[in-house]
Amino acid sequence: MAEIVIKGLRKEFGSFTAVQSSTFTVKDGEFFMLLGPSGCGKTTTLRMIAGLELPTSGEIWIDGEEVAQKPASQRDIAFVFQMFALYPHLNVRRNISYPLVSQGMPKALVKEKVAEVAKILGIEGILDRPVGGLSGGDRQRVALGRAIVRRPKAFMMDEPLGALDAEFREHMAEELRALHDRMRATTVYVTHDQLEAMQMGDKIVVMNHGVVEQFGTPQQVYDHPATMFVANFIGSPAMNFLPFQGHMARGASEVTLGDTRIETPQLQETAPGPDLVLGVRPEHVWLDDASTYRGRILATEYLGTSQIVTLSAPNGQIKARIPSARNVRTGDTIGLTFTASTLALFDKASGRALRTSVNAEVHNG
Ligand code: ATP
Repeated sequence: MAEIVIKGLRKEFGSFTAVQSSTFTVKDGEFFMLLGPSGCGKTTTLRMIAGLELPTSGEIWIDGEEVAQKPASQRDIAFVFQMFALYPHLNVRRNISYPLVSQGMPKALVKEKVAEVAKILGIEGILDRPVGGLSGGDRQRVALGRAIVRRPKAFMMDEPLGALDAEFREHMAEELRALHDRMRATTVYVTHDQLEAMQMGDKIVVMNHGVVEQFGTPQQVYDHPATMFVANFIGSPAMNFLPFQGHMARGASEVTLGDTRIETPQLQETAPGPDLVLGVRPEHVWLDDASTYRGRILATEYLGTSQIVTLSAPNGQIKARIPSARNVRTGDTIGLTFTASTLALFDKASGRALRTSVNAEVHNG
């Protein structure tokens, strides 16, 4: 299996730049997510790694070898698409064995390898069934079987669960992650679904308009977003943004919103402003009548164990995730406090997170 190193990868289609200059490393055995909205360049990046698209510039290293200009056939990578086309006239066994048979592998060895893969995927019982009548999940398993049977260096998966309904999708996501944990095969997985990326990935690259906004573990990108785009894209409801005007000196550890001083992590750089933004996740907003920072309750949304309360506050709307047992009434005005150590500060013009005492690793790459 293989480490994949991407350096300054760029793809232009005529005058349009789909991928600007991506740099990241997929470590050997990692489940690595390429996450971002539609059109941000995820699939193009994946296709370049697989050799299905030639980069305009940049380097792709697989297992210590520079392969950017090599054809797909010389990269030993398996590609799993959302709509994986199985051969409808062949049964499950022959669909899975196809890549081995076409390599000219001896029959006995093919049989052994297919049996091994069927066991990993739990599809021993359907090997002789035609693929036509299979459920969506079994078809996906057969598709995976065909991809893993030749034990490639790495897997490229492009929204493989995209066509499944929500419940089944969650089940297959767990199954795929469990399969990965058993095989430890380097996997690059494209998704626009932040929850899927958070649940399944060891690492996440968040892309927007062809640019890598951040690269890190799910916890790093959630707790310490490098940009306002990442803070907004990851988490549901998204991070609250409270814009304010000011200049913050290096070492500052509070901001003033309205008449209220709010404690923040200590700033490690000077922020000239004037347009700055305080970022707070809904689960770090507290209803506390002692606070002079106040908001009027506009709506509540009951979610079972928690509820989302939407408030109108001096710096804009705020969503708070609070226990559902707490009694709140639309129209009431209530004090708000925030968990200081979790707050983020952004420069509004660039959208960049300011360096503070808690997000150093984001800025150290
Ligand atoms: P989606 O989930 O919608 O596929 P994505 O993030 O995977 O989004 P890409 O498919 O990589 O996005 O496409 C990135 C941009 O490049 C899009 O604006 C797309 O229209 C453009 N693009 C992709 N392939 C080509 C091509 N062959 N020729 C011209 N433009 C292309």
